[in-house]
Amino acid sequence: MSKQKEKTWLTRTKRPIVIAGPCSAESESQVIETAKRLKKTGKVDIYRAGIWKPRTRPNSFEGVGVVGLPWVKRVKEEIGFPVTVEVAKASHVEQALSFGIDILWIGARTTVNPFAVQEIADALRGVEIPVLVKNPINPDVALWVGGIERLEKAGIKEIGAIHRGFSNHGEKYYRNRPQWHIALEFRNQRPDIPLINDPSHICGRRDILQDVGQKAMDLDFDGLMIESHIDPDNAWSDAKQQITPEVLGAMITEMKLRQDYEDVIPMQGELDYLRSEINHIDDELINLLGNRMSVARKIGSHKKENNMTIYQPKRWKNIMTKGSKLAEDNSLSDEFVKSLFNAIHIESINQQEKIFKEK
Ligand code: PEP
Ligand code: MN
Repeated sequence: MSKQKEKTWLTRTKRPIVIAGPCSAESESQVIETAKRLKKTGKVDIYRAGIWKPRTRPNSFEGVGVVGLPWVKRVKEEIGFPVTVEVAKASHVEQALSFGIDILWIGARTTVNPFAVQEIADALRGVEIPVLVKNPINPDVALWVGGIERLEKAGIKEIGAIHRGFSNHGEKYYRNRPQWHIALEFRNQRPDIPLINDPSHICGRRDILQDVGQKAMDLDFDGLMIESHIDPDNAWSDAKQQITPEVLGAMITEMKLRQDYEDVIPMQGELDYLRSEINHIDDELINLLGNRMSVARKIGSHKKENNMTIYQPKRWKNIMTKGSKLAEDNSLSDEFVKSLFNAIHIESINQQEKIFKEK
């Protein structure tokens, strides 16, 4: 429970800790203006900006590079935020240190590679600086914990973890599926490491940021990292998920913090927490069913083109057999899973029938 949890380096002064700033530093004025407006909200503790951007494909904006570091240094000196940038290799570490950056973070595409994390750890040997480690893009807790252990072996003492979700083929609702159980497993293994949630990279869009950030608070995360831009629609990277400093301020103000109402009615707090868990799971269930039906409609078009019948008994028998096995693995009754699959099947047939009827 949060009240009893021992304060660590990151949460000694406040919980949740809020890290905010643009996905990428684009210009000196954008970096400074964003910082000024974030400061004004009174809700932000640490300023972030990407200097070197690991992009999925070439020819996207790959960050301004080292010229951006003096801009971030100005944020520290003139606006008074501790500042953090992403590092992906030894030369980034050296440059960030030479500009007095307060905290480093390791991105998801770097955590995935033990060679790269080791190179960073080696560059940090003998240096006292806090480091935040994002989860690897694949859902592998050992790789995440392993990255942290490499830093610890190099003598880094102040370490935090950032949960930013996991890439998943065909995912539509999230940019990176949160897979909350992976973050919770991380926390079981390393309860001593503060855990920050990054709703921006999980969502990839603005409309569900609040919901995901709230869920992280309900699950007792220690803080949030949220991307903020003075002109989000025209951001050079991750435009769809960035929000203005003012929207970010309002979002944090709106968040319900579990410890607040636990102080008042302890049982009610626990119950609300469990109910919000159920609500999130229900959302995910319906979203997944939506994904399933859109695949069913594609199959419908294919059957129509090839003059096949909608109902394919052999295929259905296979699904039901798999259902029994899944029921057993998940401690659900066979009867329940069969009736659920039957309901899904009827909806799938109805959806395909619509396709058949289309001209
Ligand atoms: C970022 O925080 O801007 C970033 C690149 O995130 P991630 O490593 O989570 O993709
Ligand atoms: Mn980003």
